[in-house]
Amino acid sequence: METIVLKRHDSIKRVKTVGEVRKQIKKWKREGFTIGLVPTMGFLHEGHESLIKRAAEENDKVVVSVFVNPTQFGENEDLGSYPRDIKRDEVLCKKAGANLIFNPEPSEMYYKDASTVVNVNGLTEGLCGARRPVHFGGVCLVVSKLFNIVTPDRAYFGEKDAQQLAVIKKMVKDLNFDIEIVGCPIVREFDGLAKSSRNTYLSFEERKAASILNESLILAKKALNLGERNVGRIKDMINEKLSSEILTRIDYIEIVDSLSLEPVQSISSSILVAIAVYIGRTRLIDNFTFKV
Ligand code: AMP
Repeated sequence: METIVLKRHDSIKRVKTVGEVRKQIKKWKREGFTIGLVPTMGFLHEGHESLIKRAAEENDKVVVSVFVNPTQFGENEDLGSYPRDIKRDEVLCKKAGANLIFNPEPSEMYYKDASTVVNVNGLTEGLCGARRPVHFGGVCLVVSKLFNIVTPDRAYFGEKDAQQLAVIKKMVKDLNFDIEIVGCPIVREFDGLAKSSRNTYLSFEERKAASILNESLILAKKALNLGERNVGRIKDMINEKLSSEILTRIDYIEIVDSLSLEPVQSISSSILVAIAVYIGRTRLIDNFTFKV
């Protein structure tokens, strides 16, 4: 108990360069501290906070990266308008028990002549990868760079981005990163909407409508719990619920194997039910896993 209280009052440092991170990490490693990393794009909320708190429980020192990573945004996506507020992020990080914030400029992360790509094939081809062709290449590139800069013992990712979590686990295995990947449960708003920095884009009406994502998944989960095993019927159920709200435009409704992320024809193992839905112009995602 006492340790946690002390940790929460540790000072927090915010740095912008790779050199400063490396200097601090070397010092901590010399002192025998374990290190947890929480990669984020900032504009932090309780979802991020839960990752940071978990990292603080399981490691001596916690590094939070706050970086709106340009390489994971497609040409017509929201890189320019993505919300940013580093002062507010710093307060949340400190409260949650982080010790270091790495908040680099894009020029610090990407050399002009950089030519290396990191692509995980297979897992990135369906779901969000099919709609956002450059996204996971950008995620894998920035996360592998962060892993090399911070060299953490553990890194924390949210189950909200279920495909991202699966892709990162595969990349870590394939490339022999000596890092434990920890998946953390989805944190939701009072009405079930998964917390997301992008929720701030929603107008009052859209925000009210957005609870339909989770409501449609709850229906599907109930049906599965009652023994429904027909993939088509479950998808129809979700489709019908989402379509009952005038502000929605469905991007995808998929039921896939939770490990391979391949679409399933029948429900017999562990599945991921994942949806992506536009509410107005804002694209939101949500999911749940179900084990037979
Ligand atoms: P982002 O800043 O959106 O890139 O997210 C950074 C990390 O926080 C990712 O691992 C996300 O999966 C995770 N995250 C975002 N929203 C939530 C949430 N509502 N619950 C749990 N984790 C989340």
